[in-house]
Amino acid sequence: MNNTLLAYALNAENKLVHIDSVKNGLECGCMCPGCIEPLVAKNDGKIREHHFAHVSGNDCGTGYQKMIHLLAKDIIEEMKIFPLFLNGKYLSACEIYKEVSLVKELGIIPDILGFTPITDGPNIVGKIPVIVEIYVTHKVDEEKAAIIKKQGIPAVEVDLSQVEFTTKEALVNEIYNSKNWKLINGNIGRQYLPRISIPISGLVNAYRSLGSHTTPRYSSHSKRGYYRRRK
Ligand SMILES: [Zn+2]
Repeated sequence: MNNTLLAYALNAENKLVHIDSVKNGLECGCMCPGCIEPLVAKNDGKIREHHFAHVSGNDCGTGYQKMIHLLAKDIIEEMKIFPLFLNGKYLSACEIYKEVSLVKELGIIPDILGFTPITDGPNIVGKIPVIVEIYVTHKVDEEKAAIIKKQGIPAVEVDLSQVEFTTKEALVNEIYNSKNWKLINGNIGRQYLPRISIPISGLVNAYRSLGSHTTPRYSSHSKRGYYRRRK
């Protein structure tokens, strides 16, 4: 990696902010995402790329990777979309919403824990949890993968370990490039489909109709016929 400059840092509210959105110098009030030490913003130069630097002058060496990791999480939460897999097969990009209720039960802290709603007309009849893990420096280890599989939560790891940061837009493209996805678990636990009893093909169709970048409001699509309620 050549460019390991900090283009983003944490502000006083612990939010990732871009170098050009803050005041110059110490006034930026930002911290290193890696070591949480204060940073100076170097954003008035015409020659060197604008970036944050440690006040102490000593780069901790972890800020850049941590920046990519946090930014990737922010991007996925903003985009609210991620692919879903079933029985190991890619189905569709689905809308995901942040899920907090499951975190305690899980026994692990996923990078992103969301859910995608399964709807029948205007009704949400099921919530399928989705885990997205961001790999910059640490892969999902076997122990974590085993817990995810046991829980029956579909999970994908996004490999950004080789990505050199240029812009947020370029990072979005890397995150949503399927070449960077590794399936951790493609099987959905039965407990997450409590109120629907549908054949696999019906579920596949339901997923397909659920999510796409161009039709974010899935409620406008009739999904009647995809579901049969359990009698
Ligand atoms: Zn640092």
